[in-house]
Amino acid sequence: MSFVFAALTPHNPVLVPALAAVDEAVLPKTRSALSLVANHIAAHELDTLFVITPHAEQLPAAFGLNLCPQYSGNFVQFGDLATSLSVPGDMHLAYKTREYIETKKPFSVFSQELLDYGTAVVVVTLLGTSSACAVIPISISGASIQEHYEFGMLLRKQADMTSRKVGVVATTHLSHRLDASSPSGAHAAGSEFDSRVQQHLVQKTGAKKLLDLDERLVANAQPCGFPALFVLLGMISQINHKPSIIDYEVAFGIGHITALFDW
Ligand SMILES: [Zn+2]
Repeated sequence: MSFVFAALTPHNPVLVPALAAVDEAVLPKTRSALSLVANHIAAHELDTLFVITPHAEQLPAAFGLNLCPQYSGNFVQFGDLATSLSVPGDMHLAYKTREYIETKKPFSVFSQELLDYGTAVVVVTLLGTSSACAVIPISISGASIQEHYEFGMLLRKQADMTSRKVGVVATTHLSHRLDASSPSGAHAAGSEFDSRVQQHLVQKTGAKKLLDLDERLVANAQPCGFPALFVLLGMISQINHKPSIIDYEVAFGIGHITALFDW
């Protein structure tokens, strides 16, 4: 059918329900925001969700696609021995995507049944532990944010050519230097970066402003997976959409943003 859904969500492991029991006071607003995004996904009856992740196998210059018929996931590395995920892949769309993009951008395909934790947090918070909706994890690369934006435009063309109902979730954390509880300490760039991102995201010409953000500001703010946002922005660049930030919340000195892009 085509490309019908886009959202930006965080991937902090404390958002995993089993880990939330330990740390339930953390990120309460983000949890509600994620249930709202999950409801949107369910209402769209998506067949396949592209997840743009900063925590999968990553190459300096090439974008990556983890191609697998079935994925599993867990959070053992964070002390959760109970949660186990099972989610199908979409081999057809993954092959088509590879075929379409590999002649246009540096692109590499790998196969890893165990999901990276970024994708796994997105799956458990938005799709649940045993999803019928397929996922295709896409890794960001070390290329420029402009390259990520153009890659997103290609991904969208491919998503539009399929008979599936396709959505995208990019997973990014904003600054890791918002206050003293951050492992890297506070930096003035942190809150400036976070407020600019929020301000630009909801504007019509926001993508251009985000592409033009001062590189030093970005580097000093230390976001995680900032390029993932640009894949999403490239995908929706030709769509007359309405962006809304559902929530922004700080914990551990890190900015957590949840946003929906409606059309
Ligand atoms: Zn991260």
